[in-house]
Amino acid sequence: MEGKLNVQTENIFPVIKKFLYSDHEIFLRELISNAVDATQKLKTLSTRGDFKGELGDLTIDVKVDSKKKTLTVSDRGIGMTADEVEKYINQIAFSGVTDFMEKYKDSHEPLIGHFGLGFYSAFMVADKVEIFTKSWKEEPAQHWSCEGNPEFSMVEDNKADRGTDIVLHIADDCKEFLEEGTILQLLKKYCRFMPVAIRFGEESVWVDSETDCDKDGKPKRVEKKQPRIINDPEPAWKKAPSSLTDEDYKKFYHELFPMNFEEPLFQIHLNVDYPFNLTGILYFPKVRKTIDPNRNKIQLYCNQVFVTDQVEGVVPDYLMLLHGVLDSPDIPLNVSRSYLQSDANVKKISTHISKKVTDKLEEMSKKKEGEEKSALEDKWDDIKIFVQYGMLTDEKFCERAMKFYLLKGVDGTYYTLDSYREKIKALQTDKDKTVCYLYASDAEEEHAYIEKAKAKGYDVLLMDSPLESHFINLLEQKIEKSRFVRVDSDTVEKLIPHDDNIPEKLSKEEKEKLQPIIEGEIDKQKFTVQLESLESNDAPMQVTQSEFMRRYREMAQTSGGGMGFYGELPESYNLVVNINHPLISRVLNETDSEKQKELVHQLTDLALLGNGLLKGEALSRFLKRSVEMI
Ligand code: ADP
Repeated sequence: MEGKLNVQTENIFPVIKKFLYSDHEIFLRELISNAVDATQKLKTLSTRGDFKGELGDLTIDVKVDSKKKTLTVSDRGIGMTADEVEKYINQIAFSGVTDFMEKYKDSHEPLIGHFGLGFYSAFMVADKVEIFTKSWKEEPAQHWSCEGNPEFSMVEDNKADRGTDIVLHIADDCKEFLEEGTILQLLKKYCRFMPVAIRFGEESVWVDSETDCDKDGKPKRVEKKQPRIINDPEPAWKKAPSSLTDEDYKKFYHELFPMNFEEPLFQIHLNVDYPFNLTGILYFPKVRKTIDPNRNKIQLYCNQVFVTDQVEGVVPDYLMLLHGVLDSPDIPLNVSRSYLQSDANVKKISTHISKKVTDKLEEMSKKKEGEEKSALEDKWDDIKIFVQYGMLTDEKFCERAMKFYLLKGVDGTYYTLDSYREKIKALQTDKDKTVCYLYASDAEEEHAYIEKAKAKGYDVLLMDSPLESHFINLLEQKIEKSRFVRVDSDTVEKLIPHDDNIPEKLSKEEKEKLQPIIEGEIDKQKFTVQLESLESNDAPMQVTQSEFMRRYREMAQTSGGGMGFYGELPESYNLVVNINHPLISRVLNETDSEKQKELVHQLTDLALLGNGLLKGEALSRFLKRSVEMI
């Protein structure tokens, strides 16, 4: 029989071919998905008792014949009768193509992988396609053939075995699809977890020899070729969570990401079937220093068929820091990305995942009986940035995370936001009733300041992530009557201003005399002299850096653009002079101007040293001067 596909245009195939050039390769996924479907349908018929024959080996075979320039996909599924070929291939499948072309002919948007072109996507790479098929029903086999134009032929065939062979005669400009390496890579990409075994080529394995022994009498290890199965038909995410151990999850992680050598911290196994269908496993990797720019670590599957690893819009931004798989037949895949983002199902799925993630973290924050640390405390340093990023970018997540977010003291103790506020409230509330949270960004560098704050009975937090300045701003907005100040942003008295003033030992005239003496010896671009009345046993001079200026500068540097002005601010410090300190009186009363200068230098250098700012030549000069003075 010969026939003509019912099309308006003669040249639909060249159009298919040009369509989505970059996605040519998905033809293989489409054909193998069909083979998998045909196999699954046969299994269903068999369990229902409709098919009474032997199922036999149901493995799908993919073969390349470089001489004949063909690529063949063979299955042992239900096959098709002549009527079915007419209906499913000549009419339905073809109308699917026409619909598709109609819908997207004006679209310039990139389409997400699975666009439903189905069987006819074979014409993206082949100039002739043949189908040899024999149905499970007692009917003659068929041979269908089409050369990329609307004409096709169909004749009876003598194929003896049940199932379907799709033979692609690869076009000259698509020769890469005749290379074993290319096909293997595509199979690994799209079919790695398809639910029916897929065989392609051979692989070597090392086995004990049956004939040769080494000198100790042990059998020699020899290389043996065996057919290569390219997929894992039962991936972990399809199994019941209760049947899997932590080891199984880790093993699967490495199966998914063979190039990631680090162990994941923990995982969430998603398993929903109402009101939408979603399975998957999301792993928490260590997020220590930076936010991983390599974001395609979540793979999206549709019934175990790989669709994409570009999940923007499907999951919230911060969740893309996680690694793993999501599998849902309810995500509409044959649509454009912008449509996907506004799809109601996608939104529900995305909300569900967020909720699961916060549930998991909340559950981990609860201490189990007899345990010193909660599981969350244990992993906190490795996931803190993830939580911060989530809180900064997702209002809902932030709301929920406020319950379990952990602050860490410089001594390593963890507190929830509520418990920490309780702890510091009494001593660290200032005269305006604002609770002051003191923090250090670097416990080593700010050591002197931390010690001073501790001596006053204050507690100091360690806040050292790259997102911290943004995050602190967020906390100040979320927690009423709160203020975060870095320990070195002011003298310890002023970090948390209370009402008590210390009487000044210098008169107004003396202060006016002192100011220029000190200013004369320092870099005025960088330092502002600030005379203050502090305890007489406090340091004579200290260097501080305004919280506001420093934080905004840091924020500008980590957000790139928008806050440019702050990023360009020069680094500036305050040189706080304690006018009640006896050494400052000595400076004022020194009559030998050389000695006076020397004393000022020594005191400013000491202050810089305490802040880690004294370096290089200045440090050498200081050391030399110190020895001379002793
Ligand atoms: P879809 O798979 O989305 O239905 P296709 O164009 O890929 O669209 O296929 C159309 C129909 O052709 C399928 O629904 C199926 O009935 C039939 N078909 C395709 N390939 C096979 C196969 N290998 N074995 C049996 N039937 C097949």
